Amino acid sequence: MTELKIYNSLTRQKEAFAPLTPGYVGMYVCGPTVYSDVHLGNCRTFISFDIIYRYFKYLGYKVRYVRNITDAGHLEGDRDEGDDKFSKKARLEKLEPMEIVQKYTLGFHKVMELFNNLPPTIEPTATGHISEQIEMVKHILKNGYAYEIDGTVYFDVEKYDKEKPYGILTNRKLEDLLEGTRELSGQEEKKGRLDFALWIKAKPEHLMQWPSPWGMGFPGWHIECSAMSGKYLGKQFDIHGGGMDLAATHHTNEIAQSEACFDMSPARYWIHTNMLTVNGARMSKSAGNGFLPGELFTGNHPLLEKAYAPMTVRFFMLQTHYRSTLDFSNEALQSSEKGLKRLWEAYENLEHLKQGAMFPDVGVDTDLDSRCQELITEFDISMNDDFNTAKVLACMFELVPVINSIKGGQVAPDRISRATFDRLHHQFTIYLHDVFGLRDEATYDSGHLAGVMQLLIQIRKEARARKDYSTSDKIRNELQQQGILLKDEKDGNVSWTVQ
Ligand code: AMP
Ligand code: ZN
Repeated sequence: MTELKIYNSLTRQKEAFAPLTPGYVGMYVCGPTVYSDVHLGNCRTFISFDIIYRYFKYLGYKVRYVRNITDAGHLEGDRDEGDDKFSKKARLEKLEPMEIVQKYTLGFHKVMELFNNLPPTIEPTATGHISEQIEMVKHILKNGYAYEIDGTVYFDVEKYDKEKPYGILTNRKLEDLLEGTRELSGQEEKKGRLDFALWIKAKPEHLMQWPSPWGMGFPGWHIECSAMSGKYLGKQFDIHGGGMDLAATHHTNEIAQSEACFDMSPARYWIHTNMLTVNGARMSKSAGNGFLPGELFTGNHPLLEKAYAPMTVRFFMLQTHYRSTLDFSNEALQSSEKGLKRLWEAYENLEHLKQGAMFPDVGVDTDLDSRCQELITEFDISMNDDFNTAKVLACMFELVPVINSIKGGQVAPDRISRATFDRLHHQFTIYLHDVFGLRDEATYDSGHLAGVMQLLIQIRKEARARKDYSTSDKIRNELQQQGILLKDEKDGNVSWTVQ
């Protein structure tokens, strides 16, 4: 089997994946900032990492997947002034900041579940790790890469850059970065234009604040991820991920913090997912062009022509490689809806064939058989090539007509060998369910319906047995109104069909 190669943003090339500890993967992904609902763009990033997590599991790794909840700090525009977003929202909604956090964390979990994302193995919160963040700031101060001014601690970027390249992640020199940053106004207390806050002094009216060696305050946004990844994955771990928009500031600062604290780069591989766009513009909270998943599932948004099921959206995302931009459109979603339906139908056919045909291996068409084998092998090869889900799906769609024509009788089942068929069935099953995390919503729903129908048929049978025809007629008539027809078969059984 080919080896797994990952595009590492840090080195800007595809590299063979070699974990720090054989058989184990440590992965940290920046989680949501829970002062508002996640939009579909955020979901794209979390779905991409869910696939990566699932694929590592499929390869047999034991994965520690840490995805944090940002529930503190996070100033507007990452400037070291003003109120944090949680306090602002709490005032606006007349709630406690922690009520805001709870409300949007629960909402986030619900959305993740609807998209069938597996939960991370650890989901730490920033507010639950204040002391770890303070310890790290103390350490950076002690190592001489930070300074305190009136209760606020800043990271000294220019001093750090004299020893290690600050812009390493985006491959930019300090001079260029400085050029692109506005001059200090003279009102600001920090020394350098690129310096960022590790700890921020809180005004008395600030709602979220904690005691620290520098007085009452709250952590800067970047330090939380350094502190929590360090705590749960160690000073250095395998993979750090997040959206591409985080690379230039948040992740650049995380690297600088870890280097300044531990003299070590935090992650060996940096994975960045590309943006979901709407009419070419990045979907974001601040731009106001973010669909909420709930709006998508109900179709309740002026830009939506109809409602789309969570699995349609998941499938839509899988059809594009995670490092390419993905533009939202109704047409694209509608074609994903059709594509997914075709795939499930083919899978159902596979299931059917598995139970029935015997594949006696007498008339094997070697060309067809080896083409099928090649395409099945391509699943893993494509995933090993930087998690290319789009390519796997293309292979699956090439196999769909073969499956359908065997099922339809146009191709005799013995044209492919039993071994090929079994592998086809096995890899389709594993990939659709375990690696891609797709749920067949039709069978999921009809599975429930079948259970309910059985119950109603039983109640009707019992009613008829005691000559309670009004109840049995009521069940039949009301079901008919719902579009479900009951048919009394000759053998005494009752069958049902949906109109
Ligand atoms: P936030 O809650 O804004 O910190 O974002 C949570 C995650 O979603 C981060 O990893 C972001 O990089 C990612 N993200 C934000 N906007 C988009 C977008 N339009 N497309 C894909 N990922 C995004
Ligand atoms: Zn982070």
